[in-house]
Amino acid sequence: MAGASVKVAVRVRPFSSREISRDAKCVIQMQGKSTCITNPKLTKDAPKNFTFDYSYWSHTSVSEDPTFASQRQVYKDIGEEMLLHAFEGYNVCIFAYGQTGAGKSYTMMGRQEPGQQGIIPQLCEDLFARVTESRSPDLSYSVEVSRFQDSWVLSPALRGEWRLVGQSRGAGSQDSWVLSLALGGEWGTVAATNMNETSSRSHAVFTIVFTQRRHDELTDLDTEKVSKISLVDLAGSERAESSGAKGMRLKEGANINKSLTTLGKVISALAEMVSAGGQGDHSPPCGNSRTAMIAAVSPADISYEETLSTLRYADRTKQIRCNAVINEDPNA
Ligand code: ADP
Ligand code: MG
Repeated sequence: MAGASVKVAVRVRPFSSREISRDAKCVIQMQGKSTCITNPKLTKDAPKNFTFDYSYWSHTSVSEDPTFASQRQVYKDIGEEMLLHAFEGYNVCIFAYGQTGAGKSYTMMGRQEPGQQGIIPQLCEDLFARVTESRSPDLSYSVEVSRFQDSWVLSPALRGEWRLVGQSRGAGSQDSWVLSLALGGEWGTVAATNMNETSSRSHAVFTIVFTQRRHDELTDLDTEKVSKISLVDLAGSERAESSGAKGMRLKEGANINKSLTTLGKVISALAEMVSAGGQGDHSPPCGNSRTAMIAAVSPADISYEETLSTLRYADRTKQIRCNAVINEDPNA
C-alpha cells in the first residue's frame, strides 16, 4: 500500500514527584483525537489545538477517569495494528519521541508489573500467541530478535558505532518455538532492564525479523513473506535540538525543520544500523514501512516549551508518507 501516512499518537503521563513537589499545573487537555495546550504565562490566550490519530490521556489513574489510556489500550490501537501489518508482510516501525522523562520508555517497554508492560513485551507475546495458534503443516515461521543501541546519535562520524547487543533465533519447528518463546521472555526481561537504564542520549532499537513461509502442496512452490518490526525508543528530543544551533531553540520554524531533518537522519542511521547488523538485504524502516509515532509529553506547565515543540513535531510528522510494500517473494 503506497503512500500510507505515519500514524501519530500523543500521550500525556501523570505528574512526576518532581513536578508535584514544584506544585506544577497541568497545561494539557484532551478530547477525542484532539490535544490542547495552554501557555501558562498567557492563560488568557486561546489554547493551541492539535488533532492526532490518537490523543492518549494517561495523566490520571483508571479509577478516577473513564477516558484513561492504559498500556493495554495503547498496545491494542497501535501495537496490534502494526503487528497485523507485519503478518501481511509489511515492514513496520513504531517509534517513541519526546523529551527525557516524558514517558517514551514507559510506553515502549513499561514495567514488569501486571498491566504495566509496554508495547514491546505485549507485541512479542501477541506475536508468539498468534503464530502458535495459526500453526498449520504448510506454514512455517521464523523469528529473529535483536536489540541495538547507539552511543550517540546522528553525527555521521559516530553512526558506525551502532552496537549489536544481542540476537536470538527461532525456527519453524515446534521445538524451536518453545525455545524462542523462552528466549522471547528472556529478551523481554533483558530489554526492559537495559532500556530503562538507557541513557537519554541514545536511541534503543528492538528489531524482530519475522518470516512466514508457505508451502503450496499442489504446485510444490514456497512463498516467503519477510517483515521487519522495528520498535524504537528515541533519544530525548531536547538532545537533538540542543545539539544544533544553540540559542535558537525556541525559534519554532527553524526548530521544527531541524527536528524533521533529525528524523530523516534517525531513519538513515537506522538503515545503516540494520546493514551493520548483517541484514542489509532487508529494507530500512520507515522508507518501506508502515510507521507509527508516539509522542510522549509531560503534563506540567514547567515543560510547556518542550511539550509544545513535541506537539508541533508530531503534527508535522503526520505529513510524512511511507511507501510500504508487502515483502513477498514467490518461489523463495
Ligand atoms: P523517557 O523514556 O521519555 O525518558 P520514562 O518512560 O522513563 O521517560 O518516564 C519517566 C517516568 O515517568 C518513569 O518513572 C515512568 O515510569 C513514569 N511514567 C511515564 N509515563 C507514564 C504513564 N503513562 N503512566 C505511569 N507512569 C509513567
Ligand atoms: Mg527512556
